[in-house]
Amino acid sequence: METGGSPAVAVKKTTLSPKAIISQKFGTNAIYEVEEVQEPAENGCPGLAISQKRPCLYRCILQLPEISVMSGTFKKKKEAEQSAAEMAIKELGIQISTSSPTLQEAWDKLVDRIAHLFSDEFLSYLHPLSGHLRAALQREGDLYGLVPVPVMAIFDSRLSNLCKSINPKVESNPFLAIPLIMRAATRSSGLVASSEEQLWIRRQDPYPPEIMESSVSQTSGSPLSTLIEAVRIPCSLEKTVEPVTLDVSSTGYYMDVIAKKLGLTDATSVLASRTVGKASSEARLYFAAHQSYLLDMSSDPLIVNEALRFEGSLNARASYFCGQSIYGDAILASIGYTWKSKDLFYEDVTVQSYYRMLINKIPSGVYKLSREAVLTAELPLVFTTRANWRGSLPREILCMFCRQHRLSEPDFSVVSTPLKGLSESTTSHKKLQGIDSTEEEIECANGGAIATGTCESAESAVTYQCEVKIFSKCHHLIIECFPKNSFKKQNDSIQNTSLKVLSWLNAYFKDIDMPLEKLNSTANILDIRICHENFFKEFALCRSIHNVYHSETQGVKFLEPNSLSMLNTMPGQAVFSLSIEGPDSGVCPSNGSLLFISYSVSLVTEDEHTKEILESSDEFEFEIGAGAVIPHLEAVVTQLSVGQSACFKTDLAPKEFILAAAVDSARNFSLLSSESCCLEYSITLLRVTEPLEERMEQALFSPPLSKQRVEYAVQHIRQSHATTLVDFGCGSGSLLDALLNHPTSLEKVVGIDISQKSLSRAAKILHSKLSKNTDANAPFSGIKSAILYDGSITIFDSRLCEFDIGTCLEVIEHMEEDQAYLFGDVVLSSFLPKILIVSTPNYEYNVILQKANLPSQEDDPEDKTQSQSCKFRNHDHKFEWTREQFNSWATKLAAKHNYSVEFSGVGGSADSEPGFASQIAVFRRMSPLQGDVHPKDDGSACHYNVIWEWDRLTSSS
Ligand code: SAH
Ligand code: MG
Repeated sequence: METGGSPAVAVKKTTLSPKAIISQKFGTNAIYEVEEVQEPAENGCPGLAISQKRPCLYRCILQLPEISVMSGTFKKKKEAEQSAAEMAIKELGIQISTSSPTLQEAWDKLVDRIAHLFSDEFLSYLHPLSGHLRAALQREGDLYGLVPVPVMAIFDSRLSNLCKSINPKVESNPFLAIPLIMRAATRSSGLVASSEEQLWIRRQDPYPPEIMESSVSQTSGSPLSTLIEAVRIPCSLEKTVEPVTLDVSSTGYYMDVIAKKLGLTDATSVLASRTVGKASSEARLYFAAHQSYLLDMSSDPLIVNEALRFEGSLNARASYFCGQSIYGDAILASIGYTWKSKDLFYEDVTVQSYYRMLINKIPSGVYKLSREAVLTAELPLVFTTRANWRGSLPREILCMFCRQHRLSEPDFSVVSTPLKGLSESTTSHKKLQGIDSTEEEIECANGGAIATGTCESAESAVTYQCEVKIFSKCHHLIIECFPKNSFKKQNDSIQNTSLKVLSWLNAYFKDIDMPLEKLNSTANILDIRICHENFFKEFALCRSIHNVYHSETQGVKFLEPNSLSMLNTMPGQAVFSLSIEGPDSGVCPSNGSLLFISYSVSLVTEDEHTKEILESSDEFEFEIGAGAVIPHLEAVVTQLSVGQSACFKTDLAPKEFILAAAVDSARNFSLLSSESCCLEYSITLLRVTEPLEERMEQALFSPPLSKQRVEYAVQHIRQSHATTLVDFGCGSGSLLDALLNHPTSLEKVVGIDISQKSLSRAAKILHSKLSKNTDANAPFSGIKSAILYDGSITIFDSRLCEFDIGTCLEVIEHMEEDQAYLFGDVVLSSFLPKILIVSTPNYEYNVILQKANLPSQEDDPEDKTQSQSCKFRNHDHKFEWTREQFNSWATKLAAKHNYSVEFSGVGGSADSEPGFASQIAVFRRMSPLQGDVHPKDDGSACHYNVIWEWDRLTSSS
């Protein structure tokens, strides 16, 4: 006999949740209703007029055909539902076997279940399997009434659970349920018949006529035919995925139609996978059942199962899709019977939907789809603020990724660190462990809610760091990430860490053959640790799938987080036939701005005879500088001003992205394979919203703070009678530009910056101004030369030595603190300007800026949290100093290098708290230089590159 004398060996204990038990018994007849309960604050302060917000509680009412029960109150909806289900189970006296059934019991139950499935009543149920039973009764000839065994294991979860308790391996390979069901059918004491050669079971005696009449639709007239689109995924990776049409008539059995398409005789030789894609999907992969599922009835089924090894060739693409081993050619179709209706449910699966499902397995693909901009959007490299993020949030994408790859849900834990007063520098935070609040926050993080009820002051006194761990289904650690960055909002820390993990995964999928060393170094940069063995085990199949597509594409190279500006280093690079149209309105995007563009992307052949639009949008919004669109687009759009349009061509994107974007995949596919093509982008810059810093400053100051800073500098420059000026960190040249509007004694002006993008904009502005107007009365007629350099101001270059005046406005906070110290030393010890003006934000003023910004947003609570979530005025700021910190830096620096220093500022005043909005230090060289020789000025230190140069003599001639 089957048990072989060893009861309950290898029987997996199936512990079902109360809800699962109810669902098995009642299906859709169990209706859960969850309601919120606001409990009075019992322990609160009596008589306190302020309502004390308490966490919301939930109660669940479960309605069953016979009874209805109400749960107690719980913190989570799920708990309330489970509790209600548990009460119903008790009430109805449903037996839950706590101990695992013996093997004998499990076999008996399996036989009982089969008898139930072929009973009179089951035929009329709304059940995914009863549809197949009814369809079997419409099969013709020899096939009449034959129910394929593979579908039974798939569509009745009770049956498959029983099979799992007999053979635990069914869990990982559901097809192993087939021989068990076949075996149990032979023991049904004559109720059902089965075959020795084929995978079917049928009822012995005919159903009573009244059951037949009410359950099985009798066709009058000609059967209706329905054409359903599906795709064929050939086993061989060389063959492409192609569309197939399933012609399912109203009387036919869809499984037979699929069988024919697979070149098989009928449904009994077709296997179906678990569902793929979104949770509600009925999309499955269908493929030929292997002969070895037919068992030799005389042997022990458990042993037979062990021997079930396929010789057939694995279909890597199909297997990758559903996480099950699939052999031979497969058909992907979304069709089947559901709990909802007796009618067949179906959706078309096109080649486009296949590619969308494929790219949905990689993080950038998920993001692209969430933005409906497959060829345009790119998963950003940084999470700046919730307010500027568009599309699915990093945490959602990470959870989705784990689900897609059958991993456990990611594990988030948040550490909070108290901020000790405002004067504390952000780098000095220590990590606290084991604090009480952490647990609750973790729960919050997992539940997705943002902590509520904390008052503002408490919130600003704490920063958050988030750690995430990713485990396999059997809980082996795969990836862990614990970045040092801390955030004022716990949610921001979660998003930031999630994005780091996603960026790394993306880098892996884009270059799947990356050598181990590179994998590790990219992981290190992102504070990630990989458990290689576990990682490669889980992602083994990805290699063969994504490799095929990525080897032939240019893709976007992985960028290190610190080299974000690399994105746009060479505007125009890899972009050809760029043309810009429309007048320059002067309104330009800058990092942190939100842009609105309209665009279209077309596939064009080299000869330009054929042009197919692949993707377009009338209004697409994104944050500039974060890598939220493909680099080519970002590089081009930063050269535009509002109202201008651009058209450019680029190399092809990866094939799966193109086909995921294209509605008419077949046509584009033939274009792609027959001609040499490229992508053509047409974009128009519609609007620009300024970054947070400017918005905040503009809300409070008129003229804007940035203008006040420039005016302050201009005034000093005029008073100093300087003839030479260097602007350290000149950016887009706002100061240099303003200087040209005022008569000064300046003859030579120089700007230096590390951002080529900003420099090219500065060059454009200065060039048009200087070269257009040769009028001797122009305010800048004294200027003889102007130069822009590309380089870092922390590195000495002898060409900028001993200028009359140096300016450095709002630059040092964009460098790491140690670099700011380095700049101070280099400038006052080597560049040696007579006067140096340095400005930087006053951190203490932020409270006022934020408050000034709040009232207009009060009606939108979402927005309110967003403006606070940015710790500094601008996400690119590495620090913001208090007055004390700035004074200390400047005073020590001045003393060290024999300069004097005076403090001033713009916005607010020195005498009232909290001082100026922008604090300014003016350094003056005290002793004249001894002699002409200076140790570093040997004339050879030329580290900077000239980006643009203008000379009055050569240009006016
Ligand atoms: N001074 C300008 C720009 C301020 S934004 C204005 O007031 O409008 C800060 C600028 O500093 C950016 O353009 C950035 O590229 C530049 N910057 C940051 N680190 C730098 C470095 N190490 N060397 C040179 N420029 C730097
Ligand atoms: Mg700044």
